Amino acid sequence: MVTLNVGWIGLGAMGAPMARVVARAGHAVTAYDVDPQRSAALAGDGIVPAMSASGAASGADVLAIMVATPAQAESALFGDGGAAGALAAGSVVLVMSTVGPAAVRRWSARLSEKGTSTVDAPVSGGVVRAASGDLLMMVGGAPEAVERVAPLLNAMASTAPLVGPWPGDGQKLKLVNQLLCGVHIAAAAEALNFAESIGLDAGASWEVVRQGAAASFMLDDRGRRMVEGDFGDVKSALDIFVKDMDLVVDAAEKSGVRTMLAQAAQHAFRMGAAAGYGRMDDSSVILVYKEL
Ligand code: NAD
Repeated sequence: MVTLNVGWIGLGAMGAPMARVVARAGHAVTAYDVDPQRSAALAGDGIVPAMSASGAASGADVLAIMVATPAQAESALFGDGGAAGALAAGSVVLVMSTVGPAAVRRWSARLSEKGTSTVDAPVSGGVVRAASGDLLMMVGGAPEAVERVAPLLNAMASTAPLVGPWPGDGQKLKLVNQLLCGVHIAAAAEALNFAESIGLDAGASWEVVRQGAAASFMLDDRGRRMVEGDFGDVKSALDIFVKDMDLVVDAAEKSGVRTMLAQAAQHAFRMGAAAGYGRMDDSSVILVYKEL
């Protein structure tokens, strides 16, 4: 088996279990997070903490990025002590965060000047599938670069189709995925709040409708948390969906297409963030409906 020296940046809800899965597959992982407790917590899994993004990038065959936002990734790559300056020619940057196609194309152009390739492979599946190496990853990049990162994709994903030959092509499909996910979460919140408003019990209603044609992963997964009212155990923060619906609506506007449902979901998540739920689980978007 090919084993790789992997630099890793971003050890949050998704990054930590994914880095663990990669280390368990036998790759040498050196990881950096702005919160030093996050890398320290992974020492028992054989992951070596780095003191900076450039420290993680130094000597890496592949630099994996799993921070949350485009601004965080830009700072980790090109900010003070950023990874780009330490990357060797021939290395590959693997962008797995959801950051949109335009940002990946911009970074890829800068990185290629120093002989570093870029592959983007945004993920779907959440923290449970991240921990079991069972994610869906949507891969964009030149076939030679994708081949170099294949051992990591194999460790993290059960399905990792190459969806296009350019860095950023994976992000395009991920935006389609997020349009669906954001609308489905907002729809679950609206429906469960509607159930209560007409005198039904939300939990009992959820148990019934999830077994019929209205079933969806989001109704099952987020709907359960909406009914239980457990928003403090953060599987995915509400702020992430503010970012993702902004990326979807922005890309749609740039291509001149209408997205009425995505805009409605964007509005609901933005209201949640404005009400102070940004760092809570995204299922807390139901509170927006309850408070209207
Ligand atoms: P998160 O906020 O939990 O984790 C981000 C981590 O990056 C944090 O630990 C933070 O301290 C660290 N960080 C921020 N700036 C940094 C920097 N400059 N250098 C180093 N570390 C830095 O986010 P998450 O839920 O793990 O999501 C990560 C990405 O995956 C996002 O783009 C998200 O949209 C996507 N995603 C998340 C889920 C999910 O269920 N949580 C599912 C699919 C995709």
